[in-house]
Amino acid sequence: MDISELSDWIIANEPAVRLSAFLGMFAAMALWELVAERRHLRAPKGRRWLANLSLVAVNTLAMRLLLPAAAVGMAAIATERGWGLLNNVSIPYPVAIVVSVIVLDLGIYLQHVMFHAVPALWRLHMVHHADVDFDVTTGSRFHTIEIAISMGVKMAAVVALGPPVVAVVIFELVLNATAMFNHANVRLPLAADRVLRWIVVTPDMHRVHHSVKSRECNSNFGFNLPWWDRLLGTYRDQPAAGHEHMQIGLSHVPETRQPLHWLLALPFTGSTGEYPINRQDFDRGDD
Ligand SMILES: [Zn+2]
Ligand SMILES: [Zn+2]
Repeated sequence: MDISELSDWIIANEPAVRLSAFLGMFAAMALWELVAERRHLRAPKGRRWLANLSLVAVNTLAMRLLLPAAAVGMAAIATERGWGLLNNVSIPYPVAIVVSVIVLDLGIYLQHVMFHAVPALWRLHMVHHADVDFDVTTGSRFHTIEIAISMGVKMAAVVALGPPVVAVVIFELVLNATAMFNHANVRLPLAADRVLRWIVVTPDMHRVHHSVKSRECNSNFGFNLPWWDRLLGTYRDQPAAGHEHMQIGLSHVPETRQPLHWLLALPFTGSTGEYPINRQDFDRGDD
């Protein structure tokens, strides 16, 4: 099977490939968390998982109804009509796939920075950060409107870039899997973490981003490739208080009971705290 046959097969079986990748990765991370827990959870796991996974179900349903074709459909249209950079240059197919995955990842990094900087977007993104624990379910916990805006941004990126359809499928599969990996509450040997975090964002690297401290929260924005934080100056090695003692969540959101309706309402009820860029007290520092 060559690469174009393989990509035809992936595109033809996309829903099944997506669902099995999600379930397989989820089960693997959930098991790993049981045998090598990194931190004790603060909130009861059953209640948290029910809320977080209900939000995933709401999001999946909403996206199927609102934007069923999504980024993959947009890539197919762009290919057909010759839109976007890569549909207008002749480069080998495998190179186009690799370039597309890397450029889309940079797009997601920039979008994540934007969600932290702009107060109205931060309100939506707070739902991800308000989780008082950090585990595999946190990785998929995003407000429905954030998911929809992200999809819009990704579709715009696809129109500009003109990636092969399979590159978009691969990108979404990989991002989904790495998000579950880098939010997992798992203990990796420190030496392995040091090597691995040159290739992929590790749980210890992304956990820093979930700190209640504003300057730690405003670092390590990468979800997949770790290079953007290092290249663009947002990388932070470790949390000041250490991984076991750092506090996770948002300093202005003390609730540990966060049912589904609370998650959906948070952007419209809570304050932004001092996290977005125009709320930072630059004179004082933020400890
Ligand atoms: Zn964030
Ligand atoms: Zn996160």
